[in-house]
Amino acid sequence: MSEKRSEIGHLGEFGLIDHISEKFSLRNTGSIRGIGDDAAVIAAGDDCILISTDMLVEGIHFDLAYTPIQHLGYKAVAVNVSDVAAMNGVAEQITVSIALSNRFSVEAVDALYAGIKSACENYNVDLVGGDTTSSVSGLIISISVLGRAKKESITYRSGAKVNDIICVTGDLGAAFMGLQVLEREKQVFISNPDMQPNIEKYEYLVGRQLKPEARTDIVFDLREAGVTPSSMIDISDGLASELFHIVKNSGVGVRIYDDKIPIDNVAFETAVEFNLDPLTCALNGGEDYELLFTINKDDQEKIKNHPDIHFIGYVHDRKDQNVLVTKEGNLIPLKAQGWDHFTPTPNSELPTPNS
Ligand code: ADP
Ligand code: MG
Repeated sequence: MSEKRSEIGHLGEFGLIDHISEKFSLRNTGSIRGIGDDAAVIAAGDDCILISTDMLVEGIHFDLAYTPIQHLGYKAVAVNVSDVAAMNGVAEQITVSIALSNRFSVEAVDALYAGIKSACENYNVDLVGGDTTSSVSGLIISISVLGRAKKESITYRSGAKVNDIICVTGDLGAAFMGLQVLEREKQVFISNPDMQPNIEKYEYLVGRQLKPEARTDIVFDLREAGVTPSSMIDISDGLASELFHIVKNSGVGVRIYDDKIPIDNVAFETAVEFNLDPLTCALNGGEDYELLFTINKDDQEKIKNHPDIHFIGYVHDRKDQNVLVTKEGNLIPLKAQGWDHFTPTPNSELPTPNS
């Protein structure tokens, strides 16, 4: 064994995934797509099965000081269903694995699973298995989802074509602002436990952070409209970061317009209140779980009246020119900041959850 020690932080999350995946190739003809998209694609008769896994770790992805554990259960399912939606598929089953310590009561586990059940009902998925183990302190939830899609309707990150229109659903940056509000209230509470949290005004933002929804409705609406996106990804790490996944995988460039990026009014005002640039929050704030996709120009007409789909730019052939065009006509190079899981500041104290 060599003495060399390489820091994970130098690779970053995506570099580490590339580092792992380059050592593996697919051995079975049934494995249509392996590592590198929102879900893996497995041949299954006329259909394909989609598989994805997401893990939520206490102190990294959630803080039980302000996260109702029931919402956490819901979110853990929603973020997985979102990855299947990002492949233009429909989720059908989940498995749920949890690691927890004796900090957690049966009532807390019940609350977690009440949230999981509510999401199963909402997204019409079946809980079909999982694993339960102990942990020295924090809670870890890992969910795997299985979904289904017709082979020809699956949307990969790699399908964007020159002149395609770039679309996003809903609004962006609200989940990030919700997190800022929750963190601020936590600090206020720590310094003065008698203070009541003041989050009424920020209800939408906090809801976006604590209980996001997967956009399964969009998959349905696109199918109804007869539109199959050329590429798609869900926005978990921020619009800019996800755009770069499409750019890298499709071998294209993108141009987006700042006045086309959908930002909720309260998210905008709250960003200003926090001395943050609302556009930067929309570009780099994560966890909105909206869908980012590209469509052929000829399909734009079919969805142009959809109230929740926004056309934010177009695809071109200059891979190295990924820009944001401002209202004044300035071109700003896009930067994929997103989230890097290897430079986190974990919470040193893990609170006892309220069920
Ligand atoms: P998403 O944000 O859509 O959940 P990720 O960025 O987590 O996607 O993962 C990107 C791709 O890398 C996916 O195909 C995922 O299955 C794969 N992946 C992530 N971590 C690992 C790992 N430790 N080993 C193998 N594949 C991984
Ligand atoms: Mg994804």
